[in-house]
Amino acid sequence: MNYSIFNVIKNDYCIGCGACVFADKDFSVQLDEYGMYKAEYDHSKINDNNIELAEKYCPFSDNSLDEDKIAEIFFEKELPKNENIGKNIKCFAGYVIEKPFREKGSSGGFGKWMLYKLMEKNKVDYVIQVAEENKNDILFSYKVFSKNENILEGSKSAYYPVTLNGILDFIKENKGSYAITALPCFSKAIRNICVHDNVISQRIKYIIGIVCGHLKSTAFAELFAWQLGITPDNIKSIEFRDKLDGLRSNEKGVYAVNKIGEKTIVRSSKMLFGGNWGYGLFKYKACDYCDDVVGETADASIGDAWLEEYINDSGGNNIVIIRNREIYQIINEAIENGTLNFKPIDVEKVVKSQEGGLRNRREGLQYRSLRQKRKWKWVPVKRNFKFSKIRHERKRLYRLREKIRKKSHKYFLIAKKEKDLQYFVNKMQKITNKTERPSLLYRIENKLYLGWQPIKKQLLKLLS
Ligand SMILES: Cc1cc2nc3c(=O)[nH]c(=O)nc-3n(C[C@H](O)[C@H](O)[C@H](O)COP(=O)(O)OP(=O)(O)OC[C@H]3O[C@@H](n4cnc5c(N)ncnc54)[C@H](O)[C@@H]3O)c2cc1C
Repeated sequence: MNYSIFNVIKNDYCIGCGACVFADKDFSVQLDEYGMYKAEYDHSKINDNNIELAEKYCPFSDNSLDEDKIAEIFFEKELPKNENIGKNIKCFAGYVIEKPFREKGSSGGFGKWMLYKLMEKNKVDYVIQVAEENKNDILFSYKVFSKNENILEGSKSAYYPVTLNGILDFIKENKGSYAITALPCFSKAIRNICVHDNVISQRIKYIIGIVCGHLKSTAFAELFAWQLGITPDNIKSIEFRDKLDGLRSNEKGVYAVNKIGEKTIVRSSKMLFGGNWGYGLFKYKACDYCDDVVGETADASIGDAWLEEYINDSGGNNIVIIRNREIYQIINEAIENGTLNFKPIDVEKVVKSQEGGLRNRREGLQYRSLRQKRKWKWVPVKRNFKFSKIRHERKRLYRLREKIRKKSHKYFLIAKKEKDLQYFVNKMQKITNKTERPSLLYRIENKLYLGWQPIKKQLLKLLS
């Protein structure tokens, strides 16, 4: 039978969230050879009812609800909506004053603070967030935190594959109320499950959305650690978001620890190959076919305030989008009692802080989908956004980024087999360098255009 979820899996649009496994145990989710969680299906045991449910949960299937429809169900009808960040009550920028959340956080420390407050105020019994793992060579995974556990043990930004496989079963089997952190596609999957599963719907009270440029395979951590002197088979842990005093907040400090506990030096991600987020090294294919950057289906979305006013503050600041009144009230109280240094900001500012990601996920997605359709290939159905004509240079950049995504997975696997990091860097630099300079066609066009301008000026002068 032609189920859309099989197209998702067959054409590599799976993000590995595990929502399908929750619906039907004939699905399974495993790390593939490139280090990305992907779903598989045992075709010998077709059970149509459950596949239909899995279709409704899968964030990339054509039969799950899109972000706009989900927002209509879960958020107040009259909330203002912005095309780029979805429905919102208010947006803020700033950081947590209450210690040590900012020091222990990726940027302003709001993520773990919010989870802590929800627990402290007895709004939830459990918090589910990503934390360090250190088991079976997995560095990060989702973990359940109950009342007596330290929320601050949650990770900073885990640029690392995660899955909800097993976590959703835990929620179903254990009474109580939950708050969970989620990347946009994971949040979409959770909401779609809530639409069809009353138990999960009643138990998950808050989704804390993590703004997302894209998700990485395990190779991203391995590449950084390798450059710092720890080979991929010897990593115990990695820090992607150490704060570098005196530097701009988008300079992320990276260090790794090997299996006998030795820590490397801290280097700025900008000094490491692969640190340029715009290249999209080791990206899941699904991320190139997702149109939600901020997590429009989450009760609150949290990102980095990489805006002119905040970028020079190496301590880090968040941008936060609020869609839930209770969370809004907790924030307002905390601003009043001096726990949060938050200022309201315009939606346009939030959009500006994510403009690169939004361009790639909206304009870029439209172009990538069109290219697939021209080749008669299946692509997930996405929301319709209006665009002006895409410039030739941007099309070239989108094509190069796709090439980087595909090749980075392949070349890194070879580099690991050959134990040759330089092989990977050399191969990839040939492609990444092309993104740094304009195409030959563009340079010729530009020369002709610039040469023509003085002639045009003279002609106009003569004619007037
Ligand atoms: C893959 C990825 C891509 C991102 N891309 C962008 C971007 O393009 N633009 C932007 O502004 N921000 C992006 N972020 C978010 C940003 O890096 C910070 O995580 C966010 O600003 C929260 O900062 P904080 O100081 O509040 O974090 P903290 O207080 O440290 O809280 C972070 C919380 O997020 C949870 N968490 C960490 N990683 C994950 C994960 N993979 N899945 C689910 N939960 C997780 C942790 O468990 C913790 O509870 C990205 C994060 C990730 C993980």
